[in-house]
Amino acid sequence: MHHHHAPAANSSATISAAMAEAMDAAGLEPGRSPVPVRLPNAAVLFQRRAERLRRLAPGHRLSSWLAFMAQVSDVQHALASVPVEGPAVPEARWILDLKDLRNHLRGTLPATAESALDALPWEDAEALNASAARLMAGEAQAEDIGGAPFIVAALQVAWTRHAGGLTADEVAASAVANRCPVCGGEPVAGVIHTGPEVSGLRYLHCGLCHTAWHHVRSACVVCGEGNRIDLRLIEAGDGSGCGPADPARAETCDSCNSYLKLFLAEKAPDLDPVADDLASFALDILVGEEGFQRIGGNPFLAQPG
Ligand SMILES: [Zn+2]
Ligand SMILES: [Zn+2]
Repeated sequence: MHHHHAPAANSSATISAAMAEAMDAAGLEPGRSPVPVRLPNAAVLFQRRAERLRRLAPGHRLSSWLAFMAQVSDVQHALASVPVEGPAVPEARWILDLKDLRNHLRGTLPATAESALDALPWEDAEALNASAARLMAGEAQAEDIGGAPFIVAALQVAWTRHAGGLTADEVAASAVANRCPVCGGEPVAGVIHTGPEVSGLRYLHCGLCHTAWHHVRSACVVCGEGNRIDLRLIEAGDGSGCGPADPARAETCDSCNSYLKLFLAEKAPDLDPVADDLASFALDILVGEEGFQRIGGNPFLAQPG
């Protein structure tokens, strides 16, 4: 990198100045570059994810799991697409969303999922918050895993609603940031976009609030190395979700032995990084076996530490 500034703090100063600073920090030029940050639209994001999951599920080795996640996404859509009353701050809001999620899902789930939902410590907000914090920090314990899909789903609703209510001017991201500029979460994946202004650019996508931020494509997200990154396509066979026609790739770095999950929008314009990541889990297993450590991760794939 020639230069970059630390992400600018949110400021009540003039919006255009803040935007100019944000774009400068991201290495972008006004009028010639895409915005450094793309905020989610909570009214459609979960619906599109549910649709994507339903297209990915048939014939897939993980089809019943993908169908379950589509069901969860439907409820997330029901919650995120309507105005809310009460607290809007995600940290205060998410447990209300979790309770709404339970009301929608109860009685519709496979038995194992149903008991995991019932087993959450519903009357103990402190325990719920502690479990959420462990899941988001990648420090899940065995007891967090059963309820993780529901906790993550509710956190996503609260944070996506929050991120969707911001304007790009309020968010400053550096083009070498590896944490979400809105919520501090880890990227689930990078996406190489197509279309006017963003074609060929790499955005990192937050797995919690679904904000996407531009990241210099030629540099490793972890160590910044540009000469030793490699795009790998590893085929895992039929029904694995990672063949040449599928959008999933692994961008490996031989300098720091890490890899970023990467999706090519040209292969699937309707891709959803969280859904497509779940559907290409086989790729992670194969790249992991080669000794690469994943950058970021999918909050729905929490493993006990
Ligand atoms: Zn985020
Ligand atoms: Zn690296």
